Amino acid sequence: MTLRSERLAAMNKAHVWHPFTQMKDYNSSDPLIIERGEGIMLYDIQGRAYYDGFSSVWLNVHGHNVPELNQAITDQLTRVAHSTLLGMANVPAIELAEKLVRIAPEGLHKVFYSDAGATGVEIALKMAFQYWHNQGVRGKTSFITMKQAYHGDTIGAVSVGAIPLYHEIFRPMLFPSHVIPYPNAYRQGGAAVAMEETLSGLRLLLETRADEIAALIVEPIVQGASGIMVMPPGCLSEMAALCRKHGVLLIADEVATGFGRTGAMFACDHEEVSPDLMVIGKGLTGGYLPVAATLATDQVYNAFYADYEEQKTFFHGHSYTGNPLGCAVALRSLELFEERNIVEGVKVKASFVEQKLKSLIDRPHVGDIRQKGLMVGIELVRDKVSREPYDWTERIGVRTSLRARELGMLTRPLGNVIVFIPPLVSTEAELDAMTDILADAIISVTENGWGA
Ligand SMILES: *Cc1c(COP(=O)(O)O)cnc(C)c1O
Repeated sequence: MTLRSERLAAMNKAHVWHPFTQMKDYNSSDPLIIERGEGIMLYDIQGRAYYDGFSSVWLNVHGHNVPELNQAITDQLTRVAHSTLLGMANVPAIELAEKLVRIAPEGLHKVFYSDAGATGVEIALKMAFQYWHNQGVRGKTSFITMKQAYHGDTIGAVSVGAIPLYHEIFRPMLFPSHVIPYPNAYRQGGAAVAMEETLSGLRLLLETRADEIAALIVEPIVQGASGIMVMPPGCLSEMAALCRKHGVLLIADEVATGFGRTGAMFACDHEEVSPDLMVIGKGLTGGYLPVAATLATDQVYNAFYADYEEQKTFFHGHSYTGNPLGCAVALRSLELFEERNIVEGVKVKASFVEQKLKSLIDRPHVGDIRQKGLMVGIELVRDKVSREPYDWTERIGVRTSLRARELGMLTRPLGNVIVFIPPLVSTEAELDAMTDILADAIISVTENGWGA
């Protein structure tokens, strides 16, 4: 290590508390400190190169250090870095809203900005709650979520979260939610059975308690943080129809799935589902700056639209709501989607990746390969026949990711599921190299005991 990298590592250890990280483990390991990025590569302070195999936690679209995106920010910077959206407007926030409405599922005509997926979820929950209140409907105050759901880490988002490891300890702080199963074909005896369990659970809940329920929140088509679970076809549209029939709003959390990741601009597009509220974040700025948004239908918006004295205003906002730098880069990113035909490209790349990974299913510890577009999860199991999972203390996912890093690719596991979510612009050659590393890492850890 050079003097500089030693100094940075020491300061990092002394002062930075990292998210989702046991600092005791982290501080005893060699820290990866990124200095710059170029295309889909990231470079650490010692000049080592890594493929960004998880799009810097599912954000990056066009690669790093993209001249067009850099330019959009510097152009905006010479005008103004920030001015508020509270009771006034700015140019990029208006232009981006218009653009988002044009590409969003039908009916979503209003854009409410925030700065993280979690805040976008808070806004959707509060909007759904107040939507009923504003119309004089009382009692529709609770939410339906799905098993193993992840909607962010603020308290409201955690209340509709259902991953025990992350959420259970906070239970006394949270509002209760109804939970229905998310279809898990691998562990529930096939897609048809899993889907039926979800739909019958939802149906029963709606038939008996719809008058207590404001909205259902769902990660459409792909449930991300639970391990890249892919819904059987038709499930989402059926859920949407049930919600509509029973007068319960549908909130689509497209924070992970939005902006091309699943091979459609939004996951809802796969089944032509039009939610009442839709949350977007992550890829919205191409992975550049923290901008999120909650899109609403006119019907939702109109329930708040009244004389001030009626007290129907939505009292919610954040200091950086509608940040001009973020909106400017998001706008340019969306232009690049069109200029570069990104979404069409994802479909082609996804089938290449599928072909490349197919043979991995024959390995003795690969239980399931789940994929939608360029979101891939590979579930490792101790026993393939009984589907017995690895014990969490074996850290099989962490070890596999560490091995991948040693081989030159970054990713972050979800328990025993290895995640592969490359930037959407990755070329076939790059995908080829990354999937080779993935396979190599899985084999060396699960078959050759690497890092045990
Ligand atoms: C990442 C994620 C969030 C939270 O977004 P943040 O920007 O990290 O707050 C919410 N929902 C889903 C589905 C996500 O994947």
